[in-house]
Amino acid sequence: MLQKNEIYETEITGMTTEGSGVCKIDSMAVFVPMTAIGDKLKVKIVKVLKNYAFGIIDELLKFGTGRVTPDCPVFRQCGGCVFRHVDYQTELQYKSQFVKDAFSRIGKLNPVFEPILGGENRNFYRNKAQYPVAMKDNKLVCGFYAKHSHRVIAFQDCYLHPPIFQEILNYLLPALQKANISAYDELSHTGELRHIYLRKGYHSGEIMLCFITRKSIHKKLNFLLDLQNKFPDIVSISESVNSEKTNVIMGKKVKLLTGKNFIIDTMCENQIKISPQSFYQVNTAQAEQLYQIAKHYADLQGNELVLDLYCGAGTIGLSMADSIKKLIGVEVIPEAVENAKENARQNKIFNAEFYCGDAGMISKKLLEQKLSPDIVILDPPRKGCDSMTIQSVINMQPDKIIMISCNPATCARDSAIFAENHYMIEKVKAVDLFPSTTHVECIVLMSRK
Ligand code: SAH
Repeated sequence: MLQKNEIYETEITGMTTEGSGVCKIDSMAVFVPMTAIGDKLKVKIVKVLKNYAFGIIDELLKFGTGRVTPDCPVFRQCGGCVFRHVDYQTELQYKSQFVKDAFSRIGKLNPVFEPILGGENRNFYRNKAQYPVAMKDNKLVCGFYAKHSHRVIAFQDCYLHPPIFQEILNYLLPALQKANISAYDELSHTGELRHIYLRKGYHSGEIMLCFITRKSIHKKLNFLLDLQNKFPDIVSISESVNSEKTNVIMGKKVKLLTGKNFIIDTMCENQIKISPQSFYQVNTAQAEQLYQIAKHYADLQGNELVLDLYCGAGTIGLSMADSIKKLIGVEVIPEAVENAKENARQNKIFNAEFYCGDAGMISKKLLEQKLSPDIVILDPPRKGCDSMTIQSVINMQPDKIIMISCNPATCARDSAIFAENHYMIEKVKAVDLFPSTTHVECIVLMSRK
């Protein structure tokens, strides 16, 4: 029987989707963070549960495949990157296996897996950051949450974010402090500034800044002109008041303070308008690759009706619009739908319609109206599709379904339902949209039998 605080010599043989190495000691699975498959090590047991246990590295005896020295000083504390201790090839092998395991274990499916597509850039690829703010030693700081907690690690020099974000924060934090703005304290639900939200168009360079606050601070922001003079790429500054006790970052409304209430970027050669509330893939270059794979899977002939469910600002469907007859997009966030409509107009795309509402409710309505799309694209949030959406899509009988997901587990679960209802899972490809983290995107092509 495993004992807490005891040290055991062992080898890491697997990797969980949370990024913990797994070893077996006394036929019990033990999870050890920050290890690599093939590591030989001494593990100190820190917690024993009924069926598994947790350990930490006591001593590394032999490096596993792909181990490297982590390059980030806060890698151990920060909850962002999980794979900075292995090289990128090794990370990609892990992620490829995550997707395969999800389909075989959860979906009980055995599709063809195309090779994982890695990102060109492992660093500085994100176009968005939401920094939690805190007060430390009488100083206003921001950074990242520590692993599994809401304790702020004051650190801005992040390898995943565009370097200009750090320059902006270096200006912003002292200016905010001088303007007497206090940091939000989650425990006592007091203070003002909760998060600093920055987003940058990957191709355009346009930057959006949004202050997320518990109570409005906009009257105290006496430095905005100076800020914009220093950083002319900041074209949009807004505030979103969120006075709730919640983990949700954004408030319900966004008030524009200066500039325009969106930024523009290009994606797959379309100009895309993005509001603070709209979902926009965080890794633009890699998302463009993903959309191209989707287009390739769709194998468009020119006369298709395409239904794009969970369409956000319309990016996927609009990237196909010139090669199809008609596009219908569905999205629940009103601002994103407005963006999608504008994006169609701006790019002179006249064969696209967008509806605002729940994907399940709207697809059910469209089914009742006898809509019969040739291709359905599904790009749901992490929790996957609900049964109303899946049933409606099955009953629409499209020739092809292309599912894109940032959660291989729910993607495999939902694919299995299609597989039981006349669809063949043709192929699955993992695409790494989130290098250095545990997250991985996957895309599935299904065709009607
Ligand atoms: N396809 C888009 C967005 C994908 S993210 C892109 O590639 O950019 C998932 C989207 O689903 C988000 O925009 C989110 O707002 C939307 N969403 C979440 N729940 C929804 C629901 N029940 N019905 C419709 N859209 C929903």
